[in-house]
Amino acid sequence: MTILFLKIRKFLRRIYPRLFARLPISVRLAAGHGLLMLILLPMVGFGIYNMVRRDLLKSVDGALLVSGESMHASRSSEGLVKGGLDQFLLNFSGEREVNAYARIVDLSGNIRNHSNRDDVSLPVSRIAMARAEQGASTFESWDRPDKAPFRQLTMPVIVNGLFTGSLVQVGTPLDATYATLKQIRNVFYLAFPAILCVCVIAGYIMARRSLAPVDGMRRAAEQLSGSDLSHRIEVPLVRDELHDLADTFNRMLGRLEDAFERQRRFNSDVSHELRTPLTAIRGEAELALRRIRTTEEYRTALETIQRESLSMGCTVDDLLLLARAEACALPNVKTVVSTGDFLVAAAAKASALGKNKQIAVKIIESEAPVSFIAAENYLSVAIGNLLSNAIKHSPEQGIVTLSCKKGKGESVLFTVSDQGEGIPKGLLEQIFDPFFRVDSARNRIAGGVGIGLSLARAMAKLHGGNVRAESTTGNGSQFHLSIQQAAT
Ligand code: ADP
Repeated sequence: MTILFLKIRKFLRRIYPRLFARLPISVRLAAGHGLLMLILLPMVGFGIYNMVRRDLLKSVDGALLVSGESMHASRSSEGLVKGGLDQFLLNFSGEREVNAYARIVDLSGNIRNHSNRDDVSLPVSRIAMARAEQGASTFESWDRPDKAPFRQLTMPVIVNGLFTGSLVQVGTPLDATYATLKQIRNVFYLAFPAILCVCVIAGYIMARRSLAPVDGMRRAAEQLSGSDLSHRIEVPLVRDELHDLADTFNRMLGRLEDAFERQRRFNSDVSHELRTPLTAIRGEAELALRRIRTTEEYRTALETIQRESLSMGCTVDDLLLLARAEACALPNVKTVVSTGDFLVAAAAKASALGKNKQIAVKIIESEAPVSFIAAENYLSVAIGNLLSNAIKHSPEQGIVTLSCKKGKGESVLFTVSDQGEGIPKGLLEQIFDPFFRVDSARNRIAGGVGIGLSLARAMAKLHGGNVRAESTTGNGSQFHLSIQQAAT
């Protein structure tokens, strides 16, 4: 059975690409259904046919056995049945016309008594003889030319537990049984092709109906374009696989729409941010060229141009770094960084920035690891941005703290706190969007273009971590930067 199954599987695998791969799914499903039925129906039919055949033969055998046993019981001491066997068979089967044959023979083949049917002349087989000597009865079927086989029971005559040498034989032609079996076969021959056709057609219709929403999705997807992602696919009412597919597809469209929107906003923000210094550079140059200037005036103009182009260069560098970090295209070479040295260097750079406002940068190292593994240059960009923001937003003579401690698992947590104006609760996530500024005019004057926090988050993500902000308006802000690196 397993070998047959494996052979069928191998056969299907071989013919599948050739037969089905290029057909539409509904045709493929219907054809697969039909093929399965083509294999199953004959198997089921064969099983049913054999079961019925076995049961019919069993009932014939049962009738023969009862007849044989009755003959054995009513046998006279001479081994002959009183009243003749035909009369016996008639008595046994009531008034119905009997189509059975019976006889009593001995082992040498002498017939002691037999019914009056002379169209039956059957041998006593060697097997039946051998079994009779051991006291066992034998059922046999004899083929007859152009007729249904003949079924016969050979039963040894046993007296006082000993085989007497006589055999009771009862037989009947299997015409009725074979006629019934033929009828069953005919029903199968007619029914199977009809069932097969119905299955294939019903399978095709069902497959077409089930796949109808897919066609709807295809048409909806065709209407989508890069510039308009607002279309959504109709979600089928029934909660099935296609409902989930349409739902997932719609959510994916939502995410794509968001991403496209962010990209569009980013592009327009970039152009806007670069236009400001470019306008300043062009204005300064035009002003300087309007008439002959003194050397001092040319120097001042060139210094302004240099300052603006430097700031533009920094913005472009930051944008490039951000784009590469988000595309995971930065060489991520991690080394063991000494916590103390790292914090001191970051605080020193920040102190220099806060010198004018007399801001003190303090380091807190509670439960900090001695060292950690990180890409030091990228991590210092992130911490540097957080510190420079803290200084920008701190009041004069304020205190900015930088702390480091072991986080959950293998993470290291840096926190930058300030005593500045704080950030409104509703904007705590938005401030991480590129070019977002809580107060554009003020931040621009302070020298920010709005990508410091996006960059810090991108750098943290490079380390498997993140940055999040906590703040109460008017009460300062805390920025927590975590990195998922094995601390040593
Ligand atoms: P910018 O270059 O303008 O500082 P960022 O991306 O670093 O850009 O910050 C985005 C915005 O978040 C800032 O414009 C500012 O409004 C707000 N912000 C960032 N850090 C702080 C802070 N420590 N205190 C108050 N507001 C802050």
